[in-house]
Amino acid sequence: MGIGTIYLVGAGPGSVDLLTLRAARLIGRASLIVHDGLVDPEIFALARPDARLVSVAKSRARHTLPQDQINALLVAEALKGNDVVRLKGGDPFVFGRGGEEAEEARAAGVPVEIVPGISAANGAAAATQIPLTHRDHASIVSFVAGQCKGLSEQDWAGLAGKGRTLVIYMGVKTAPQIAEKLMADGLAPDMPLAVVENAARPEMRVLHGPLAGLPQLVERHKVKSPALIIIGEVTASVIATGARTAPEMEFEGK
Ligand code: SAH
Repeated sequence: MGIGTIYLVGAGPGSVDLLTLRAARLIGRASLIVHDGLVDPEIFALARPDARLVSVAKSRARHTLPQDQINALLVAEALKGNDVVRLKGGDPFVFGRGGEEAEEARAAGVPVEIVPGISAANGAAAATQIPLTHRDHASIVSFVAGQCKGLSEQDWAGLAGKGRTLVIYMGVKTAPQIAEKLMADGLAPDMPLAVVENAARPEMRVLHGPLAGLPQLVERHKVKSPALIIIGEVTASVIATGARTAPEMEFEGK
């Protein structure tokens, strides 16, 4: 038996119909699916009845399997001849550690393929009708991690402001530091933002407010991960034009 292939597959923001066709086909074929906590269980209905499903669920506070053990598991299974689908929320190469898993596979001489997915930012944009760019409001968009090594020393100057959209992943817990950091960099306290919890899923919540009120917004509504913070004029443009698609859409006045 030859060496198997490791497929790093993007599962999109949640709902099964936002998978790519390539992802769905690979999920349907795989004998082993290694997944994490951000994957909708409905997606597993596509798997073969005899497929092995292994959870390596990660959250900020709880690591059931450290990254090096995940890497070792993927490589060991592929070396045994199994095609392995490593299913990852959103896109594997946007804050997904897909890069580390791909490096590990290449170092072990195991073929690896990447299947892109709809990242949370794109899923949230579509579901809320907040465009990430807009000729009248923003021609730059940045994705940043709100929880990472050395957050306070990181230079975010210029990432947000007029004509720019900033999308923050993993920023719920650090919302107060994020607001403070951006205002210290000169961003206006009344810069509009939206917090999108469970984007593109039935339980989605969208909260709007000014930058200065971000910590209170998150606190008062008990926002939970997974959520994105979108900062910029584009978030106000959707209110101005009256789109109301979210099951719950709240506006915190300035
Ligand atoms: N690779 C993923 C991101 C993984 S990091 C992607 O491309 O989307 C995990 C973070 O993604 C979460 O903390 C949250 O900020 C964001 N996220 C993932 N799914 C989300 C969803 N359905 N709604 C809002 N944010 C989401």
